[in-house]
Amino acid sequence: MPSILFDNRSTRLSLPPGAPFSPGPEEAIRYGQGALALRGPCASLFDRIDAVIRDFAAPLGAEEIVLPAALTLEDYRKTGYSDRLPQYTTQLSTGGVCSSAACLCCYPCLAGKVFEPAGGIAFTTRGRVFRQEKLSPDEPERLREFHQRDIIFLGTEEYVEGQLDKCMEWLKGIAGDLGIHGIIQPAEDPFFGADAEVLKAYQKATRSKFELQLIAPKSTRAVAVASVNRHGSHFAKSFNLRLRGGDFIHTGCMGVGLERLALLIGSHYSFDRNLWPGSLRARFG
Ligand SMILES: [Zn+2]
Repeated sequence: MPSILFDNRSTRLSLPPGAPFSPGPEEAIRYGQGALALRGPCASLFDRIDAVIRDFAAPLGAEEIVLPAALTLEDYRKTGYSDRLPQYTTQLSTGGVCSSAACLCCYPCLAGKVFEPAGGIAFTTRGRVFRQEKLSPDEPERLREFHQRDIIFLGTEEYVEGQLDKCMEWLKGIAGDLGIHGIIQPAEDPFFGADAEVLKAYQKATRSKFELQLIAPKSTRAVAVASVNRHGSHFAKSFNLRLRGGDFIHTGCMGVGLERLALLIGSHYSFDRNLWPGSLRARFG
């Protein structure tokens, strides 16, 4: 198991536990079970975080793609999520299944595509995702409907590895600039952990999923706000994505939970940028 890549646990909590800032109705309005309407400075921060990730994705050659929010039931089954993570599944009365990760619809949309053997291609998308999370009033940042900005890489193993290394370096920079008690560490991946081939790749590369987790001031529990994910050839095999020559491509992605990150920044520092540390203002101000 690889060592922890970034550790900001020694940083003092920016607010004492039990006395967090809570977004008011001018910032976030709770609706139904696990959904939020973002307003004012919270909505601006949400957009700003999204823009900062897009600015990082552009020089990586990522093309903006707007994906459907639901997969057909047949394609959803092919992703393996219905078997491995049934708790994430939200089915529509029309038969489709809501996406539980922003990139998920990208792979079936490209089904059958032949990729050139040199390098690969990248997309970036902002998607609405749905997960049947357990809700707790102490963890207002845990939602059942939220947005992810995802950067998706498809191509040779070397291409995907190289791009994900850049994502990891970028994420470490973000984690430092936030100044929030947090950690980047390998995460248990219940999905790919059970796949023998990916498990082998995991052992070889020593990592398939890393998460940036930040301490939520109210619950003082770690909440994942971003992850870097290596899928190996899992999606390529499900949707017949091959290199010219016949080998399956590799895929990988980095996803950032936009509401979560905005709410955690707001609840540690408030949404008033004047109260933020300089490094955070420079990044997201
Ligand atoms: Zn993804």
